[in-house]
Amino acid sequence: MTIRGIPLWAWVATAVLYFAAAAASMEIAWQRALDALTEAGTHRLDLYAASLESELGRYEILPAIASRQDSIEALLQAPPDARHTLLPSVNGYLEAVNKDAGSVAVDVIDLSGTVIAASNWNQPLTFVGTNVAYRPYFRDALSNGRGRFFGIGTNTGEPGLYFACVVRSEQKVLGATAVKISVDPLESAWRAPNEAAMVIDGNGVVVISTVPAWKFTALAPIDAQKQQQIQASRQYAGRKVEALAYQRLDDWRNGAWFARLPDWSHPGRERRYLAMSRSAPQAGDSIMVILDLSAARRQQQIALAFVTGAFLIACLYGLYAAQRRRVIAERLRAQDALQRANDRLEATVQQRTAALVLANERMQEEIDERARTEQRLRDSQQELVHAGKLAVLGQMAAGLAHEFNQPLVAIRTLCDNARTFFERNQPAPAFANLERVAKLIDSTAVLTAELKAFARKPETQTVPVPLGDAVSHALLIHEARIRDHDVRLTVDIAPDAVVAAEPGALQQVIVNLLGNALDALAGREAGRIRIEARRAADPARVIFSIADNGPGIDPHVLAHLFEPFVTTKPRGQGLGLGLAITSRIVEGFGARISAANPEGGGAQFTIDFAAANGGTGTDGETDEQTAGR
Ligand code: ADP
Repeated sequence: MTIRGIPLWAWVATAVLYFAAAAASMEIAWQRALDALTEAGTHRLDLYAASLESELGRYEILPAIASRQDSIEALLQAPPDARHTLLPSVNGYLEAVNKDAGSVAVDVIDLSGTVIAASNWNQPLTFVGTNVAYRPYFRDALSNGRGRFFGIGTNTGEPGLYFACVVRSEQKVLGATAVKISVDPLESAWRAPNEAAMVIDGNGVVVISTVPAWKFTALAPIDAQKQQQIQASRQYAGRKVEALAYQRLDDWRNGAWFARLPDWSHPGRERRYLAMSRSAPQAGDSIMVILDLSAARRQQQIALAFVTGAFLIACLYGLYAAQRRRVIAERLRAQDALQRANDRLEATVQQRTAALVLANERMQEEIDERARTEQRLRDSQQELVHAGKLAVLGQMAAGLAHEFNQPLVAIRTLCDNARTFFERNQPAPAFANLERVAKLIDSTAVLTAELKAFARKPETQTVPVPLGDAVSHALLIHEARIRDHDVRLTVDIAPDAVVAAEPGALQQVIVNLLGNALDALAGREAGRIRIEARRAADPARVIFSIADNGPGIDPHVLAHLFEPFVTTKPRGQGLGLGLAITSRIVEGFGARISAANPEGGGAQFTIDFAAANGGTGTDGETDEQTAGR
C-alpha cells in the first residue's frame, strides 16, 4: 500500500523517527537549558552570598565600635538617676553613627535588657524604654560577646537584622549595644525577572525574600515547641509562622532540585521551579534561588519546532523527490510507448509499402496483359472484318454465279433456237432471238459494272447520295433472290432522301440489310419487305428503314445485334459479321443504325442519316416488286 507514491512502511518509519527525534531533541534542549539555568543559579548564589556578606559585614562591626565608646560605658555605669546628664551626648553620638552607617537604628541596652539610649531617641517610635531581654541577640551578646538575629521590630513592626555587642568595663559586663539594619535594599537588589531569591534563617523561616508574600513563612512545618520558642523571642513580632506551600520534588544535577511553589506571577497557582541553595551562616542559615523553568520550556519548544520544521522540509523534499521520480519514470514509460508505437508504425508502413509495390506490380502486369489482349482483339477483329468481307464476297459470288448462269442458259437457248431458225431459213425469228441475246448480254454488262463499283475501295469522304440510287443498286444484286422467294417488295423513297455517304459503302449497307431480310423470309409464305426513306422532322436528318414480316429478331440477340459474331444462323450459313460491318460503315457516315421488332411482327432496321446539303436525288418512286417480276 502506498500513500502519494510512498510505501506505508516509509511513512510509519518517518513518523517513528520524527517522534524519536522530537523526544530526543526536547530532552537535550531541556537538559542544556537546565544546565544553563543551574549555572546561572550558581552565579546568582555566589553573588547573593557575596553581597550578603559584604552588606552584613559592613554593619557587624558597628556595635563593637560603639561598645568601646567611653560615653556609652559611662552611661551604662552611671546610676539610673544620673544618666539623664549623659544621655544627650550618647543619643547624639548614636544618631550620628546611625546616620553615617545608614542603618535603621543604633541603641544601648542596659543589663536588664532595657534600651536606655537610641539613635531614634527623638522619634515617635523610639526604641528607648523598650525591653529586649527576650531577644536572642541581646542574650547572645551578653553571654557570647556578640549576637545576631533576624526579626521584626516590636515597635515599628518592620523586619530587620539585629547585630549586638557586649559592653564591658574591666571584664565586667555593663550592657550591650545593638544595630538594626534593613534588608529592603538587598531584596530590591536581588529582584530579577524569572527568579526569586530568599534567605532562610536557622528556624527554617524565610527572612529575606524577593517575593514579599513568602517572607516569614517556613519551608518546613514548624513543630509546637519551636513555635513556642519563636513566640517567646517575639522574633517575628509575635506572629505565627505559616508554612510556605513548598514541596521538594526530584533532584537535578549540580545540587539543584525541582520544587513546587506558589507562582509569584500568578497568585493562587502553583508551579514547578528549579531550586538551588547554599549556606550563608553569617546571615542565618542559607540562601536559596528559585529559577523559573519557562525559559527551559521555551528552549524545548524551539527544539521541537526546529525538529518539526526540519522534518517537514525533509518530508516535502522526500515527496518532491518521489514525485519527480514518478514523473521521470512516467516520461520514460511514455517515451518507450512512443518508441514502440513508432516501431509498429514503421513496420506497418513497410508492410503497406511492400503490399502497395506488389499491388502496383500486379496492376502493371494486368495493364500489360490487357494491352496484349487488346492487341490480340484488334488483330482478330481485323481478321474477322477481313473474314466478313470474304463471306459477303462468297455470298456475292454465289449470287453472281446464279445471275450469270441464268442469262447464259437463256443465251444458249436463244442461240440454239436462232441456228434452228437459220437452218429452217427463217431469218426474222432468228434475228429476234439474236436481239434478245444482245439485250441479255447488255444487262449482264450492267451487273458487271455494278459489281465493279461495289468492289471499289470505299471513299473516306462522304458525298451526297440519293438513297433511291443505292436501294436500286442493292435490289439489282438481290433481284434473283427476291424473285425466287416470291417476296413482295415495297420501296418508298422520298425524292429529297439524299444522304451524306460513300456510294459503294452505302450500297454494301443496304445489300446486307436486304440480304438479312431475305434470309429471315426464307421458307416462309407471303414474304414482304418494305423499304422507306424520308426527311425527318429535323430537316438535317433522313430516316431510312427496311422492314420485313419475318419471325423478327431473336430477343436473345437483340441487345448485342451490332456486335461481331452475333448470329442465330446455323454453322456455315452466317458468321454474325454483317450487322457489325454495317454499323461501322454507318457510323463512318455520321449516321446511326437501330433495330427493333415492331408490334405488327417481323423485324425493322432504321438508319438515321445526316441529310446531304443541296442534293435532290432521283425522282421518288413507289414500287412493288414480286417474285417473277
Ligand atoms: P449473319 O447474317 O451472318 O447471321 P448478321 O450480322 O447479318 O450475321 O445478322 C446477325 C443476326 O441478326 C442474324 O443471325 C439474325 O438472327 C438476325 N437478323 C438480322 N436481320 C434479321 C431480320 N431481318 N429478321 C430476323 N433476324 C434478323
